Amino acid sequence: MVAYAAGRKADISVNKMRAITLAGVIPDVDSVSIVFGIEAFKNFHGGPVHSILVGMILALVIALGFYLYTRENVLLWSIIGVFFHLLLDIPNTLNYEQYFDGLRYFWPFSDYRIALQNVVPNPEAWHLAIVTAIFGLSIVYFVILARKDAYPWRIWFDEKKLFRKKEDTT
Ligand SMILES: [Zn+2]
Repeated sequence: MVAYAAGRKADISVNKMRAITLAGVIPDVDSVSIVFGIEAFKNFHGGPVHSILVGMILALVIALGFYLYTRENVLLWSIIGVFFHLLLDIPNTLNYEQYFDGLRYFWPFSDYRIALQNVVPNPEAWHLAIVTAIFGLSIVYFVILARKDAYPWRIWFDEKKLFRKKEDTT
């Protein structure tokens, strides 16, 4: 939602909106490690895929995909999307099993880890406050958009067309 809001604010094209929102969630592809069991998930989620290097590679792959299909350069917005994800995961490190380590943003160059609990006292309170604020604002923003009939998912999928088609056939 934050990436989406940024994109809307910048008033970018639909392809760029798609790129920034896709890039905004792409580092969490490491969640697919769940297919190898909960232990693999705990060990992998929030690991190297949440590094700046892998994030930039993923942004590049997204931009390349868009370029091949649409001939539009969306690289900057893919990078911004990944950047938002990594940034917003900092107050979210308590949700990662390896939270005492923190996120490995500089993998593989440095073992430096960033984690909320290494920076502030009472990380649980900070985590709750920041995450609640982000979720709360996102919900408010969603409601504002919904009242304008501008549902965020429409950049990917317009359910109106689907219903229109159904009406036509009946
Ligand atoms: Zn993440």
